[in-house]
Amino acid sequence: MELKALHLYAAVLAVLLCSSVNFIQSPTDVLGPVVLLEPTPSSARDFGAVVSDAPFAVMRPESPGDVARLLGALSSAPGPSPRATVAALGAGHSLHGQAQARGGIVVETRALPRDVRVVVAAAPAHGDRAYADVGAGALWVEVLEECLRFGLAPPSWTDYLYLTVGGTLSNGGISGQTFKHGPQISNVLQLEVVTGKGEVVTCAPTKIPELFFAVLGGLGQFGIITRARIPLQHAPPKVRWVRAFYDSFETFTGDQELLVSMPEQVDYVEGFMVLNEQSLHSSSIAFPAQLNFSPDFGSKGRKKVYYCIEFTVHDFQQDGSSVDHVVELVSGKLSYLRPHMYSVEVSYFDFLNRVRMEEESLRSRDLWDVPHPWLNVFVPKHGITQFKDLLMDTVSAEDFEGPILVYPLLTDKWDGNASAVVPATPDGVMYIFGVLRSTDPARCGRACVESIMAQHRRVADEVCRGIGAKQYLARQLSPAHWRDHFGSGWGRFEARKALFDPLHVLGPGQGIFPRTD
Ligand code: FAD
Repeated sequence: MELKALHLYAAVLAVLLCSSVNFIQSPTDVLGPVVLLEPTPSSARDFGAVVSDAPFAVMRPESPGDVARLLGALSSAPGPSPRATVAALGAGHSLHGQAQARGGIVVETRALPRDVRVVVAAAPAHGDRAYADVGAGALWVEVLEECLRFGLAPPSWTDYLYLTVGGTLSNGGISGQTFKHGPQISNVLQLEVVTGKGEVVTCAPTKIPELFFAVLGGLGQFGIITRARIPLQHAPPKVRWVRAFYDSFETFTGDQELLVSMPEQVDYVEGFMVLNEQSLHSSSIAFPAQLNFSPDFGSKGRKKVYYCIEFTVHDFQQDGSSVDHVVELVSGKLSYLRPHMYSVEVSYFDFLNRVRMEEESLRSRDLWDVPHPWLNVFVPKHGITQFKDLLMDTVSAEDFEGPILVYPLLTDKWDGNASAVVPATPDGVMYIFGVLRSTDPARCGRACVESIMAQHRRVADEVCRGIGAKQYLARQLSPAHWRDHFGSGWGRFEARKALFDPLHVLGPGQGIFPRTD
């Protein structure tokens, strides 16, 4: 459908954005040709599919200047504060409406230039490393494809690549490489940001660091990221991908911690719980090995749970035997259920893009565009057994659909200046538990999804209060819950908001800073 263009004239804003008639004195001077479009269904929808807040309008900016004009106008209104809010929308893979703006304006960052410019030449300012300058609306898969043409790739990933650069940098961006390289927010050299006040600013760790670190893990509260400079490393043509099975949680996590203590040898470490045949099958879709593993899951009431570690070793194919040797050396130290270790050699691209195959399988079963009551929690090492037991009390192992990821991360790889929140850990080890459930609407309706979310809240509350765990990717219930979430970091977060988005225009879908009218 041809979308109706709405020019941002003062009268239009006054009526439609419920603002004062004095809101913009001479709109054409201030705004230039800013164009708002009618909302589409995707502007009120996300992957979680539990929250749907329609905006008043959508903006598809062609440049950072467009975003700056919009935010500048909304934050420079004289008189009573304007009530319009703005949410950046990347790929819309949030879970609880975080990229939505009820009655406000959604800025689609995919419309911004998405070029990926790879700079191979040594750049002394960045420690001689190659880097890529990328539009924040680019998907990570697009970044990967372009970088691989130069034999290069970013070091830190998410499991799923169809997320935007701006979206993951606003949260954290974690995967099995995080133990070694840190999250994606620890792998950024420079950002271009349009602040909530409408200023286009280039920032870096040594240039306006307050804005740079505020925005990383900043939940879209301080500005809209329009470009990012990402360091690159040599990409291996192939990786050796290994999976090993366990029937003891303690042995499983003990071996994971052993693996993350070997960053010289190992390039990626994750793991997941194997609750039933289906979870064994779906986790194997992208892993092209013949598994001779037929575990006994026990009977109702005495269910048995298994665990799977996966790790990879990059194969630069310089010496045919070296990767075999490393895998042998590493696996020789592990205490998996012998003989259940399986290994495959796949291209680096296929490995990084492995979740795409799971997506296709779920789509073919009509299980992709369904509600996703996910729970993601960073749990300090000392609390992982308690968390796992609490979680298992809420999970019916027979019919659970989706992976439960469990793997360790090292807190010293997270830059404490960034806005992202992780637990304090005396030994520097925390685990991510990702309970990534898909619900089939035919079997689990609205009330069922709500009850799963309520269970998750109870579990999260208990472990956050009891053992200092922190939720990841969650929308907290109220500003007071957000204050608890940030803990001692709240004052800094609030001060950064006052500096970069004093009128609370940005990020309404997170529910952190309500507009004050
Ligand atoms: P959106 O959902 O569009 O936006 C997320 C938040 O960021 C919103 O608050 C939005 O306003 C803000 N935002 C978006 N773009 C910008 C911008 N340019 N500037 C400022 N703020 C912005 N996360 C991991 O860490 N590791 C994983 O392995 C992982 N796997 C996932 C797999 C799937 C299938 C899904 C659905 C999610 C996964 N995630 C993972 C979570 C994902 O990283 C976040 O949901 C991320 O925000 C998604 O990016 P997006 O482009 O869809 O962001």
